[in-house]
Order: sequence, then C-alpha cells, then structure tokens
Amino acid sequence: ACEAVRGKTYVVATDTTFAPFEYRDTAGNLVGIDMDLIRDVADKMGFSVKIDSLGFNAAMLAVDSGNADLCIAGASITDERKQTYDFTDPYFDSGVLMAVSESSDITGYEDLADKTVVVKTGTEGETFAKSIAEKYGFRTVSVDQSSTMVQMVQAGQAEAMFDDYPIVAYGIAQGNGMKAVTEKEAGNSYGAVVKKGENRDLLIAFNVGLAELQADGTYDRIMTQYLGDNW
Ligand code: GLN
Repeated sequence: ACEAVRGKTYVVATDTTFAPFEYRDTAGNLVGIDMDLIRDVADKMGFSVKIDSLGFNAAMLAVDSGNADLCIAGASITDERKQTYDFTDPYFDSGVLMAVSESSDITGYEDLADKTVVVKTGTEGETFAKSIAEKYGFRTVSVDQSSTMVQMVQAGQAEAMFDDYPIVAYGIAQGNGMKAVTEKEAGNSYGAVVKKGENRDLLIAFNVGLAELQADGTYDRIMTQYLGDNW
C-alpha cells in the first residue's frame, strides 16, 4: 500500500470554517490541524494532495461520488457512516457542545423552548440537536458552515448553535462573542474518510503516516500549536 501511493496526487476534500481543524488564516492560506496532518502524512508517505475546501456535507458527498479520494474534516467515526465510508484510525476525541451569545440568558437546554437552534447539515451536532428538539420544544435550522451558525446567533436569528467542542472553545477564545453554558456531550473520535471499499492503499498509508507523526512528536506539536494544553 505504501509503495502504491508514492508519487500519486490525491484530491482531499475538507470543511471551510472549522477552526482550528481547517480555516483560512489572515493571508488566505488554508491552515489547521487537519491540513497539517494530511500534508505531513503526504510528505512522509511520498504522495501529493490537492485540497478542496468544500464544506463538511459537500466534502463527504464528494468522497461518496468519487470527486474526492479522501475527506479530512473532523469527521466523526459513526456506525451509520461506516455503511458508506471507511475510516482511518482515530486521531482526535471530540464531542458536541452548545454555544449561545455572550449576552444570552440561556443556561441550559430547558431554556430553548419555542426557540430556534442552528446546526450544520450532516453533522453529529445536527443529529444530537434533532434528537432532543422535541423534548425541549425547540426547532432546528440547518446551514452549511460553522461561521454561518455563529453569525446567525449573533444576529439574533437563532438562540443557540451546536458544534464540536474544540471548535466552540476555539471560537470563544478568539473572542467571537459566544459562550458555552452546558457540558459537552459525549461524541465520537475523528477519522479521515474514504469511500467504502475504495482507496484502500491511501487509507493504509494514512494510518502508517499518522502513526509515524505520533511517534516522532509531530502530532503533539501540531495539537499544541492549535489547541495549547486543551487536548
Ligand atoms: N464531527 C462532526 C461530524 O462529523 C462535525 C464535522 C464538521 O462539521 N466538520 O459530524
């Protein structure tokens, strides 16, 4: 498998505004944990990547339709997705967290009755919010980007949003005007994704490269660069 990937160029699909896993820096470069991981794995294993910043749902669909070879976008490893995709080894443990505006009076899910909650299409956050929507009496609206969720809450178009906790925490630390008032929900680990039964060599090469990054300290350095001590 490691021989087979050498010299090849793979199309890698990813999310758009999912800091600190993938986002554009002030110079417009696509950076983040996922971007560093895939580029470093590619360097180690001798293949090239062409990165397509599509949005989470679009990136997963691109892999399914064969328009991308791999998706790395903080994709949670779920049993449902395993019917359509093969996952690499896990590289980060996540979970879903609600965020509200700094000025909000909301202190828990109970306060969401008759409110609008914004979530991201095709994500674990969306699935979780929908699973409790009836119990707490709120409605959900789905959008394609994490940045849109924040904008909608800030604009008063939604009362709360659900995203993965490292993304919520990073945004708050950057001063995006949000706060978290609940504990994070248990969630699944992130893996990179290929279409089920396809790109087997790439999947194996990713796992080999990831293990090398973990063994030689590169993985720890990337995590600390973006997350400080919070991982
Ligand atoms: N981890 C979440 C999921 O897989 C969200 C991923 C994302 O929004 N990029 O559903």
